[in-house]
Amino acid sequence: MPLPKIDTNHLTQFLVDLLNIPSPTGLTEDAIAFVEKELSNYPQLKLSRTRKGALVAVWEGQSSDASRALTAHVDTLGAMVKEIKSNSHKGKVNGRLSITRIGGLLLPAVETEGCWVHTSTGEKIRGSLLVNTASGHVHGVKALETKRDEDNMEIRLDARISTKQDVLDLGIRVGDFVSFDPRVELTNGFIRSRFLDDKACVAAMVAAIKSLADSGKAPAQTTYFHFSNYEEVGHGASAGIPADVTELVTVDMAAVGPGQESDEFHATICVKDSNGPYHHGLSNKLRELADEHEIQYKVDIYPYYGSDGEAFWRAGGDVAVALIGPGVDASHNYERTHTEALEATTNWLLAYLLND
Ligand SMILES: [Zn+2]
Repeated sequence: MPLPKIDTNHLTQFLVDLLNIPSPTGLTEDAIAFVEKELSNYPQLKLSRTRKGALVAVWEGQSSDASRALTAHVDTLGAMVKEIKSNSHKGKVNGRLSITRIGGLLLPAVETEGCWVHTSTGEKIRGSLLVNTASGHVHGVKALETKRDEDNMEIRLDARISTKQDVLDLGIRVGDFVSFDPRVELTNGFIRSRFLDDKACVAAMVAAIKSLADSGKAPAQTTYFHFSNYEEVGHGASAGIPADVTELVTVDMAAVGPGQESDEFHATICVKDSNGPYHHGLSNKLRELADEHEIQYKVDIYPYYGSDGEAFWRAGGDVAVALIGPGVDASHNYERTHTEALEATTNWLLAYLLND
């Protein structure tokens, strides 16, 4: 039985729109609401929120004796304002902001990037992240040598500031969220952007739902689509997946790089990451489904990686857990994938949803 067709243009447009909605862990409401609005087009789905803000869409299947769940996360790396600086060279007040990272943000990867400071009242103030020895003409070799870390990097606001009070007057306080520009670009089928982890997989899950709904079909088993909002800090899917679910497929990016099998044109099944092996039986079932539907895939092991499937396991979830997703180059950095990998991931999800 051939799989229903994927609307790749819709998938790509949805992904670009989602990438352009800031959603550092802890400030995910806009991204969750965007996914919710898209899924509200499908009356087959029953939508709800968990108390910590994740979105769950349930689609009643032809059977419900072995219900399933899929999870992908909308939250991304980001930062928070740690300090409004009032000390600077020669006693001149600078009003720059030091930050604390959210998740495994790689600071050198966002050096010079544009950013927004999100105040607690919902205002957005523009700025960029710089090393505090940024000027080549002022700092010379120190501009090269300064370690790119929280102590030496700061946000320069695009506002006229000469005192700490000026910053406070903008409404900025310690604890405000900081989001970095994704810088999305599409070229020759490549999608280059920050935060493809894991918005690429959210888009693949939504594309699978659309494709299945458009074809007039329903999942073989009742399926919970879980859109997680705290994955990057380790506990996203620890709640929100019902206890009667028998299998959980985590949909998250595959790590591409030296020594890895994964690439930007395929979907990968991860059989082991930093937290150990995934469920052998479910992983094998997914491999068989890929073979049956002629979906090209890779099998890989990720050296520095944990997933929301493991978060559910650690929270006591008694289910088989597997992990699949598109290859993403330069993960947690300026990432890139290709539409072929997104299509392969979506097809794999469709094969799984339809399998009884
Ligand atoms: Zn991820």
